[in-house]
Amino acid sequence: MKMSTIPRPVGTTQSLAKFLFRASPAIWHRLAEDRKRAVVPAPRIPDFSAWSDTGIHAAWIGHSTVLLRVDGFTILTDPVFSTKIGVEVGRYIVGMKRLVHPAVELARLPAPNLILLSHAHMDHFDVPALRKLEQRGTAVVTAASTSDLLRVKGYKSVQELRWDESCQIGPAKIRAFEVAHWGARKRTDVHRGYNGYLIEVGRHRIIFGGDTAQTDSFRRLRSSKPLDLAIMPIGAYDPWIHAHCTPEQALAMANDAGAEFVLPVHHQTFKLGNEGYREPIERLLLAAGSGEDRIAVRDIGDEFRPGVRSAAYAGPTRPGARGRAEMPGLR
Ligand SMILES: [Zn+2]
Ligand SMILES: [Zn+2]
Repeated sequence: MKMSTIPRPVGTTQSLAKFLFRASPAIWHRLAEDRKRAVVPAPRIPDFSAWSDTGIHAAWIGHSTVLLRVDGFTILTDPVFSTKIGVEVGRYIVGMKRLVHPAVELARLPAPNLILLSHAHMDHFDVPALRKLEQRGTAVVTAASTSDLLRVKGYKSVQELRWDESCQIGPAKIRAFEVAHWGARKRTDVHRGYNGYLIEVGRHRIIFGGDTAQTDSFRRLRSSKPLDLAIMPIGAYDPWIHAHCTPEQALAMANDAGAEFVLPVHHQTFKLGNEGYREPIERLLLAAGSGEDRIAVRDIGDEFRPGVRSAAYAGPTRPGARGRAEMPGLR
């Protein structure tokens, strides 16, 4: 997601509204609509108590936030828990409001051993959430020139990786790889990096694709060792096709890497593209065809556990949740 730098207006709500209306009527209308809209609960609640310390377990928390446990080692990708993401203007956040709450509140999330940050865009790098996740037992791996946004001393360690660089965090070997995206959080900070990651724990191999347009670089991840799971972005391609792949391209790239299962993210959480709310997942399932069982999750809160197809593992539906229904007001 791209957020332009917004000049600082005077601090009252009224003057902020006037300023925004004059600066961009379209953005003003969008924000005014967002203010009124309620954020709905996630359709599913993952049950971490059922996770064991062997094999791969994963839960889609929302957007690109996935909690992974691989042989007992817990990894959290791009943790975004704030209701609104965007630029702080005085006491306000001018930006985007989520459609659906995270499947788990941050306070109820098992503490991760490692936080993996793909890049510093607002919808991936949620500074207030990252402050709350500060713990002496948690390591962070992030893209080049992004750790200045973190309070480094709050974590066990913070390490930046450039493409093709690796590091070892406990039992996990993490290698950053090139994706087709960009790194600037605002307009001018174009020095910031943007990564996909290959995660290896014991005999398990997983990729986290970050944000990416169609690229050949997933082909280079293929090796003689099996790749268990590819966490792939599938939304915000209309009209941002030069920064975000389509569901079909996401599946093709996961296939290039030789992935057995695909865990689709970057949809159903924020309205970033013009595509319909369920279009990305429906297109992905259609593209998978008879291999539909390879698609590890469908709804926010869904879990993936070893040896069992995702549909059989759909957790309890939260009372009052909309589940697979279309979101109101969204195409
Ligand atoms: Zn994004
Ligand atoms: Zn991005």
